[in-house]
Amino acid sequence: MTTMNAIIKTASISDPVERGIAAYLDEIIELRHDLHQYPELAFQEHRTAKKVAALLGDWGYEVTTGIAGTGVVATLRRGDGNRSIGIRADMDALPIEEATGLDYASSNPGVMHACGHDGHTSILLAAARYLAESGSFSGTLRLIFQPAEEIGAGARKMLSEGLFDRFPVDAVFGLHNWPGVPAGQFGFVAGPAMASVDKAVIRIVGKGGHGAEPHRSVDPVLASASFITALQSVVSRNIDPQEMAVATVGSIHAGSASNVIPESVEMKLTMRAYNEEVRARLQERIVALARAQAESFGAMADVDYRLGFPALFNHAEETDFARDVALQAFGPSVVEANFRPRTASEDFAFLLQAKPGSYLFVGNGDSAPLHSARYDFNDAIIAPAARYWVRLTETFLANDNG
Ligand SMILES: [Zn+2]
Ligand SMILES: [Zn+2]
Repeated sequence: MTTMNAIIKTASISDPVERGIAAYLDEIIELRHDLHQYPELAFQEHRTAKKVAALLGDWGYEVTTGIAGTGVVATLRRGDGNRSIGIRADMDALPIEEATGLDYASSNPGVMHACGHDGHTSILLAAARYLAESGSFSGTLRLIFQPAEEIGAGARKMLSEGLFDRFPVDAVFGLHNWPGVPAGQFGFVAGPAMASVDKAVIRIVGKGGHGAEPHRSVDPVLASASFITALQSVVSRNIDPQEMAVATVGSIHAGSASNVIPESVEMKLTMRAYNEEVRARLQERIVALARAQAESFGAMADVDYRLGFPALFNHAEETDFARDVALQAFGPSVVEANFRPRTASEDFAFLLQAKPGSYLFVGNGDSAPLHSARYDFNDAIIAPAARYWVRLTETFLANDNG
């Protein structure tokens, strides 16, 4: 409900979009806290999707549910314009035990909104309500609420279920909050903006034995240590220094006693890059090094290298357009002049392979990092980000665009 307080608070705001959103902002923040308290993992966003679909239906959207399981697409047509815009928010949470101590902390053990997808969903709903009640545009608006971003599967599944055939758009946009960037500050990057992500599981198999008689065994721990050291040469010696590449060993497991040489060692790696050539080179060198290093110690390496998803590539024209909208709506002080690409990954990359568009960033202020058990989305960025989606829609589907 819109309280008297909100009416008094908003009376002095001159910008109509800001005033419109401020009138029901309390309700959206309450909704954000509710989503935060009941987080749902990838493809299990049933409660979230139900809430999203019900609100959009109440506001007059044509709502389609059940795309990629829990995905929701809402359509709003106005005027006779023939352009269409898609805006996407993600809905899923992570398998993390929350440690924020917030009064609306997760009540779902081991599951947490540690990436702010509760915030992204709330921002898009705040914009959706304004656009339905007072939006000035001519054309078709499509809001895409996507499941399973965190496991890199939701966007792909929506596409495979005909997302853009059933709901065509001329361009698609999305955003992510970013800790460490001042709250409400916008960042735009043309070209590669987020990295590809690939994984490998490498098992180095030796011959187990007594820790006191190493000469009777083949020590896979030593071979692994040598591989990890050699791995550092891939980025420094095999990749063009002008390019970005990351190869990280995030997990290593072997043995359980100090006096036993284990049979094998298992390592888990993640690799990041901005371009396909670098990505292929990482794979080629890492596989070759693991095998050669293991062999040089008389062990063998079993490499399971899995390609995840590609780098997120923002289209130049749509990114310029998105930046101009922010400059016009907020002025230059709120747009970071030289926002750098990020080495994290995002499955919006698949949507940008299917349609032109841009993925942008909004500062979350001085919060804990994404995927931290202490992270929380900053409610102060809901209003400016929602206002931005409204402006983007109204500009893209301007009345005189026909
Ligand atoms: Zn995430
Ligand atoms: Zn995220």
